[in-house]
Amino acid sequence: MEFFDKLSKKASETYQIAKEKTTNLSEELKLKSKINSLEEKNYQIFAEIGETVYKELKEGRDVEKDLILVKVDEVTANQNEMEKLKLKLMELKQVKKCVNCGAELEKNASFCSKCGTAQPAQEKVEVKPEPSSAKETEVIDVNNVEDKKEE
Ligand SMILES: [Zn+2]
Repeated sequence: MEFFDKLSKKASETYQIAKEKTTNLSEELKLKSKINSLEEKNYQIFAEIGETVYKELKEGRDVEKDLILVKVDEVTANQNEMEKLKLKLMELKQVKKCVNCGAELEKNASFCSKCGTAQPAQEKVEVKPEPSSAKETEVIDVNNVEDKKEE
């Protein structure tokens, strides 16, 4: 039964990797769309700030600071949320940003490929098994397996 066990294990491993990749991709898209909508919200708030300032000044009034500050806080909150989502996204994509120029790098890169700056060592580098076997279809030699069994 060893052969069939191997075969079914292989199949379920391949399935697991494929599933993981799909999950990561849809999670990535979800995060990206959240970031985009927060960015749009901020543009909207900036426009509102501008409009408020414009109206008040046009009417010859002083701009009420409190009116603007509420919106400033909203923008800041959205920006903080965006930063968090971006970090999550980088974690998901297994990348990091160059400490100098902000270029996207492999998570365990020691130097930036763009500006050459040395990157601080990662406190914890998670080494995942290479999913390369998922790409190639492994051919199992049936005869070989049966020969071994008879020994
Ligand atoms: Zn760089």
